[in-house]
Amino acid sequence: MLLGADCPQENQKMVQALNTEDLRKSSLKHNWMLTHDWVRMAEEGDPLLIVEGKGLEVVDSTGNTYLDVNGGYACVNVGYGRTEIADAALAQMQALSFAPQGATAEPVIRFAERLSGLTPGDLSDVWPVTGGSEANETAVNIAKAYHVRNGQPGRYKVISRKGSFHGALGLTTWLGGRSDRADFEPAYPGMVYAPHPNPYACEFGGQTPSECAVRCAQAVEELITLHDPETVAAVIAEPVSSSGYDAAAVPGPEYWPMLREICDRYGVLLIADEVITGFGRTGRWFAVEHWDTVPDIMAIAKGISSAYWPMAATVVTKQVAGAFDEPGQAFDHSPTSAGHPVSAAVALANIDILENESFIDRSAEAGTYLLQRLREIQADHPIVGDVRGLGLLAAVDLVRDRETKERFPKDFELDERLARKFRQRGLILHPRGAIWLTPPLCVTHDEIDRIVDAIDEAVGEVEAEASLVT
Ligand code: PLP
Repeated sequence: MLLGADCPQENQKMVQALNTEDLRKSSLKHNWMLTHDWVRMAEEGDPLLIVEGKGLEVVDSTGNTYLDVNGGYACVNVGYGRTEIADAALAQMQALSFAPQGATAEPVIRFAERLSGLTPGDLSDVWPVTGGSEANETAVNIAKAYHVRNGQPGRYKVISRKGSFHGALGLTTWLGGRSDRADFEPAYPGMVYAPHPNPYACEFGGQTPSECAVRCAQAVEELITLHDPETVAAVIAEPVSSSGYDAAAVPGPEYWPMLREICDRYGVLLIADEVITGFGRTGRWFAVEHWDTVPDIMAIAKGISSAYWPMAATVVTKQVAGAFDEPGQAFDHSPTSAGHPVSAAVALANIDILENESFIDRSAEAGTYLLQRLREIQADHPIVGDVRGLGLLAAVDLVRDRETKERFPKDFELDERLARKFRQRGLILHPRGAIWLTPPLCVTHDEIDRIVDAIDEAVGEVEAEASLVT
């Protein structure tokens, strides 16, 4: 058989297909992919092999194109194919690939300075790391060490919100108190779980976003007092949730200012997990800006480099950093790739694009259009319980019964069913409880129309199929 360049044109596709099949099998055998089930992937001809991308569009190894609706895992904020970011990585690797012990490099310093200017209020001191889990793990460790430096070593508990995802490391695995953590028992000590201010499914029955926000914030205060404030180190939350059935739930306007006041009252540090919501996702650089709230610590990742290179950071206020000022009081934390010069160069090139092409404002504008289109189709679909979002973080929440908000039974496999229907319509979109939408910020109105039309059709098919299931 002819291979590669010698292969006649008509055979190229076949050879590619053969290679694709070999690679697919090899992937199933050796390549442990996140949150995917090998058996199901094998049955369904997965995994897809993606070979290139531009904007939202990606091309697989057999030439099919798709819109990547969630831009990877809500991380490709500027879209695929920005060669200037690749150029920045190459130039930095050629100049200096890593810094020796005790030294740093120019892009890392410029990156820290830039973030210090972009993040709200007096957030100013930047600990660069390589991913969102590490940024949150670092955030909690800084909070605990901060209290130790201030003579309160008993503060070790962390309040997070039920169902949230904050990472996949030792401590972060246990933030959010998810029901799918049994494999990793025993739980990390000091985990305390608060309700989610999701106006569509308020645990306290709040009838308006404000009512829900106030009750959920009060619940945080009750937890702090119940546990004894002197044992609580921090409260961590996403400004707008991105998890499961709470995806894109925008809290009432009271929530964040109340969290700020409550934390101040009890000397607890407030950590905003902006891993997804940062870098324009919600139409502001950072989502806490919608409520003029400045956390003590902010964890950022994903859109920071648009995932062209692993990068993340934990940013703290001067006041928090001040606890580590004295000689011998440094924060003892040393992941090897923290402060990687190539990651910093990539992040700087990415931030240039976000700024120069007004992506933050574009996200707000495109997000408004996306929500308007989704609300238009909601009227036609009895299983669409809620449409919500802020900027380009949106969700379509599906229920079996709009009145009771009853969910589909697990064995109906709603998420998988919809993902297949979306793939058939040229979308890569995997619902996770709700249909969760986080397109790259370069998404056009035409692309939004294509996405919403596909959702409209797929949801319509599910409705027809659901009537067959008792
Ligand atoms: N925080 C939130 C809100 C996330 O959604 C994620 C990942 O999706 C993380 C933290 C963990 O980030 P990473 O996957 O980069 O470790």
